[in-house]
Amino acid sequence: MKQPNEKKIAALVSKLLEELGEDPSREGLRRTPERVAKSLAFLTRGYRQNLKAVVNGAKFGSGTNHMVILKDIEVYSLCEHHMLPFFGKCAIGYISTGKVLGVSKLARIVDMFARRLQIQERMTEEIAEAVMSETNAEGVGVVIEARHLCMMMRGVEKQNSEMTTSAVLGSFRTDEKVRQEFLSLIGR
Ligand SMILES: [Zn+2]
Repeated sequence: MKQPNEKKIAALVSKLLEELGEDPSREGLRRTPERVAKSLAFLTRGYRQNLKAVVNGAKFGSGTNHMVILKDIEVYSLCEHHMLPFFGKCAIGYISTGKVLGVSKLARIVDMFARRLQIQERMTEEIAEAVMSETNAEGVGVVIEARHLCMMMRGVEKQNSEMTTSAVLGSFRTDEKVRQEFLSLIGR
């Protein structure tokens, strides 16, 4: 996917500021359109990444079929309905069939899907499927807990509500005991 045209975005942001009743030429706002353009390009860079490049062959052999868990991965994303942030923590578990991913790679997979316009449910599934396809795991589980600024700052103004989503694949879906082990290991 092509790089966003930051000049074009900045011009649009300037128009937006005007429409909101601001004066884009005043001191504090003079460079805001450029900053917003840069920031948006960064926050959506997941569109321009692909799984193969992100994982970049960083898979290691591992002996037995044990469960690998990574908890408390920070997630920052933008909701596709309001383009406002939602953020929280992600836990990933999988049972390897011989291949494990480096810890930093799991975090980069999360970022790749988080840095786009998202809904939490879809992002959770996408992360689970990516881990499954990259590890050929026997099963994968992903749980994300997040707070949505679109709920906290506007609309219902539910400041303390947290949304939890989960996706389970393979043995995490079919085997109740495996799923329970995963949930208890991530402290749920
Ligand atoms: Zn929203």
